[in-house]
Amino acid sequence: RLEGVWDTVRKDGKLTADNIKTPMREIRRALLEADVSLPVVRQFVKSVEETALGTKVLKGVRPDQQLVKVVNDQLVELMGGQQQDLNDPKDGPQVILMAGLQGVGKTTACGKLALALQKRNKRVLMVATDVYRPAAIDQLVSLGERINVPVFEMGTDAKPAEIARRGLAKARAEDFDAIIVDTAGRLQIDANMMSELREVQATVQPSDTLLVVDAMTGQEAAGLVKAFNEAAEITGAILTKMDGDSRGGAALSVKAVSGKPIKFVGTGEKLEALEPFYPDRIASRILGMGDVLTLVEKAEASIKEEDAAEITKRMLSAKFDFNDFLKQYKMVSGMGSMGQIMKMLPGMNQITEKQLNEAEKQFKMFEALINSMTPEERTNPDLLAKTASRRRRIARGAGRIEVDVTNMIGTFGGMRAKMQSLSKMMKMGGGAPGMP
Ligand code: GDP
Ligand code: MG
Repeated sequence: RLEGVWDTVRKDGKLTADNIKTPMREIRRALLEADVSLPVVRQFVKSVEETALGTKVLKGVRPDQQLVKVVNDQLVELMGGQQQDLNDPKDGPQVILMAGLQGVGKTTACGKLALALQKRNKRVLMVATDVYRPAAIDQLVSLGERINVPVFEMGTDAKPAEIARRGLAKARAEDFDAIIVDTAGRLQIDANMMSELREVQATVQPSDTLLVVDAMTGQEAAGLVKAFNEAAEITGAILTKMDGDSRGGAALSVKAVSGKPIKFVGTGEKLEALEPFYPDRIASRILGMGDVLTLVEKAEASIKEEDAAEITKRMLSAKFDFNDFLKQYKMVSGMGSMGQIMKMLPGMNQITEKQLNEAEKQFKMFEALINSMTPEERTNPDLLAKTASRRRRIARGAGRIEVDVTNMIGTFGGMRAKMQSLSKMMKMGGGAPGMP
């Protein structure tokens, strides 16, 4: 649906408020048509716009491709970023409690999860607490038979919390790795269902309370997760019936509206039809532009490599001025981690986290100081050593004192000397240890 929307951006050299207008309008429409809730759409469009305008179009990449990447990254973010697996407590079994309205696919999801856990070599016990319909217990039992997973049940006369308690005791006594507790649903949220759910929850202290939601309910799905989460705290959702003609909007809104991740999606009636929810895969499926994303990611990686190579070269040459110093800092912070670069430098591999933080703070100050230098001073560091009035002016401009400038010159000088001797070493024979 989004295929044609990037065209207006293609011809220009960069992303502007003007040329992203049409694609943004189309994205907005596509999301609304996919049943994403309006506040989520608004927030999404706004953050894409903001990010796009602050994004540089990389070498070898067209602006429309760059925009696809921005939209993709924001989609991933919207859906919670990383895939979230089941919680796995170190002591005792995984206890998974299923919640949700009637007919959404809870009992089926119990069987699906049991099978998935079994494939991870876990011994699973299922527990039937839907005491309102005898058929519900039979359904779980027959699912269990198909995959060879035992079901603990006490018929329809016992109370759900009591069944759950006994089920957990059995699992502990017999050393099961996981128990999955099926519960009864109602047609809509009501106080009885919630208090029953909370009672079971309090009894078994689940490692996961998963709300099973039918994707076909569209916009309402996200709201339902929110309401359930407020009434009985959940750890995530399972979105079922994604194979049907649902428009998929729930997948985009659940996290944004409820703060809880979708952990799995159900994609069919078979017990194999359960998939972990991967925000990045869903996003690229939505955009249908996997190739473009790969292209931009490659460009990003190669720019980083070029920068690193260039800086290394300059660092090792005699011309290591304040611009290089600053550029190095900028590149390093652009990579998100001082540590990576520091580790590449000889003699610096034993640096601690605390030292790293200190270094980053210091570099920030250096940046401010260098920014208040004249271009001439930046390329000719020796000017500063001679004139105190320059040092004072620079300090004032950065809101620091003269000693800070003197200290920076010291650090800079030390680094330059190190680079120069390193460079001599390299010229003499075959490369420094640890340098690329
Ligand atoms: P419960 O009342 O919440 O326990 O729901 P059930 O597990 O009994 O499922 C209700 C119906 O939905 C059954 O006919 C299931 O086969 C069907 N169902 C469950 N999950 C899915 C799914 O992911 N895709 C499809 N197409 N059907 C599903
Ligand atoms: Mg059921």
